[in-house]
Amino acid sequence: MTKYKLEYIWLDGYTPVPNLRGKTQIKDFAEFPTLDQLPLWGFDGSSTMQAEGSSSDCVLKPVASYPDPARKNGVLVMCEVMMPDGTTPHPSNSRATVLDDDDAWFGFEQEYFFYKDGRPLGFPTQGYPEPQGKYYTGVGYSAVGDVAREIVEKHLDQCLDAGINHEGINAEVAKGQWEFQIFGKGSKKAADQMWIARYLLMRICESYCIDIEWHCKPLGDTDWNGSGMHCNFSTKHMREVGGKAYFEALMGQFEKNLEDHIAVYGPDNHMRLTGKHETAPWNKFSYGIADRGASVRVPHSFVNNGYKGYLEDRRPNSQGDPYAIASQVLKTISEVPTGDKAQAAA
Ligand code: ADP
Ligand code: MN
Ligand code: MN
Ligand code: MN
Repeated sequence: MTKYKLEYIWLDGYTPVPNLRGKTQIKDFAEFPTLDQLPLWGFDGSSTMQAEGSSSDCVLKPVASYPDPARKNGVLVMCEVMMPDGTTPHPSNSRATVLDDDDAWFGFEQEYFFYKDGRPLGFPTQGYPEPQGKYYTGVGYSAVGDVAREIVEKHLDQCLDAGINHEGINAEVAKGQWEFQIFGKGSKKAADQMWIARYLLMRICESYCIDIEWHCKPLGDTDWNGSGMHCNFSTKHMREVGGKAYFEALMGQFEKNLEDHIAVYGPDNHMRLTGKHETAPWNKFSYGIADRGASVRVPHSFVNNGYKGYLEDRRPNSQGDPYAIASQVLKTISEVPTGDKAQAAA
């Protein structure tokens, strides 16, 4: 038997943005444990905004697991929070009710700022650094400083070692701002991996005395970009059938459901979706081919392939809950008829 270190990770009850929490238990297993070998566990919900002090037990239900690259015999255990009965989802548990479909693929582009001493990494004590322009995909100390790249490389390696579909990195438009991309087949698979990737990044940063600022517009109404989490998505129908009529019907439904989307695309998004800095105004839906100023960007490849492939919703922000975002995208897609029904309507 080997002693495994199981890090149970969950989302707490803070609003509008939950925090990641985690605690470790040690269990004996003959070999690396499978998900169904991982037991339910509990925690004190009164310390996480998930229960009253008088009856504070909440239950952690493992729903996904990954090897923990930073620990000998470590396991990262993504959990849903359940009521004390162990079967009723806790009100804060947004994962329990998401629409899911393994044929729906999601690619999230997570942007964020490194923060140190209360300001973006690389900002001077007073005032601002050189205006943005050279930082995006930049190389060299004056563009990215001396430590950010070390962190994003460590994060990349840990994600890959954990089996997370990390797909790429780039330095972003603002100084101290970066992006990584996570891909998954199915809402839950993609979103679980995003939450674990966020966890790993925050954990790596601890020893650098650096925090991640996830807010979508940490520098407010200035000439500094905000942070998004573009959601690239495709269903089997979009990839294999597609067509201009279906695409236009889909965009029509996105326009109709604008408010439902914005409601789950992350807090304070009106601060970011202003129409400036490669964004579309939050209250007006638009789409455009290769248009980074539209709500939905249609890649050239999509049009060239006969309106088949994936689309990019650019509105979700860096603090959005990927469970809720993927679920809303799937809900809107499900409202648009495909196949015979669509041909009859055309
Ligand atoms: P950009 O910065 O130009 O918007 P990125 O390369 O950062 O683009 O991100 C593109 C994202 O699209 C990646 O996360 C990738 O996983 C995702 N993606 C690619 N193909 C598909 C697909 N068929 N379905 C869903 N997502 C996809
Ligand atoms: Mn990108
Ligand atoms: Mn980006
Ligand atoms: Mn993008």
